[in-house]
Amino acid sequence: MIIIAGPCAIESYDQAMRIAEFVYQAGATMYRGGAFKPRSSPDDFQGMGEEGLYILSDIRKFMPVVTEATQIHHVNMVANNCDMIQVGSRNMHNVELLKAVGKTGKDILLKRGYAALLEEEWINSYRYIEKEREYYCKQGTTYMCERGIRTYEKYTRNTLDLSVVPFLKNKGHQVIVDPSHATGRPDLVIPLSLAAVAAGANGIMVEVHDRPDEAKCDGHQALSFHQFTELVDKVTHLKQFMENNFDEN
Ligand code: PEP
Ligand code: MN
Repeated sequence: MIIIAGPCAIESYDQAMRIAEFVYQAGATMYRGGAFKPRSSPDDFQGMGEEGLYILSDIRKFMPVVTEATQIHHVNMVANNCDMIQVGSRNMHNVELLKAVGKTGKDILLKRGYAALLEEEWINSYRYIEKEREYYCKQGTTYMCERGIRTYEKYTRNTLDLSVVPFLKNKGHQVIVDPSHATGRPDLVIPLSLAAVAAGANGIMVEVHDRPDEAKCDGHQALSFHQFTELVDKVTHLKQFMENNFDEN
């Protein structure tokens, strides 16, 4: 099972490395950390940019990393410093960016646009990437990442649409669920991670921070180290139970 964990944003070498070392020993299979951050407010921290990528290249020495590309002219630089390129929710409709990441031959984490229709929009974005991949390089995989959609409900940041998991799996997709952005609340991340695994997700992606109160980005939804340890323990046990008892897994 894929467990992607790390801070929303790379804030400094020490912060990024401290969290990486922790999540790695706790059982994460991949590290996440944004260098280029597409924030809703122009006043918020926009990420460390290229410097953040160099920090990631050190983390890559012991675990694979995923990070977001926000612009076409950054794609090659991002590709050279990560194992998987994230296309964020705000960029899911950016056709030129989709084509550019598809050409790299890297694994891609394609987040669902926060108001994207599943078949007409999200799957077509996937097809843009795959068409370039097929033409240029024939290597790598695109993972679909459900991260919640905008609804009228406000008690969570977004509304997690778990029905896409079996739907996409039945069509042969690889699916990752991000309950951190889906809920915006750490208390809901563990139960929804378990629900995602039970629904058949290939993996989960969660935000983790050693000092959530001081985080420059999305600290309100980050899991503490203690919560992340609990999460790994529970999802691993659930996955094991499913493998032992359900034929289809
Ligand atoms: C993120 O994963 O850091 C992020 C910005 O997520 P999303 O694009 O889903 O909002
Ligand atoms: Mn975030």
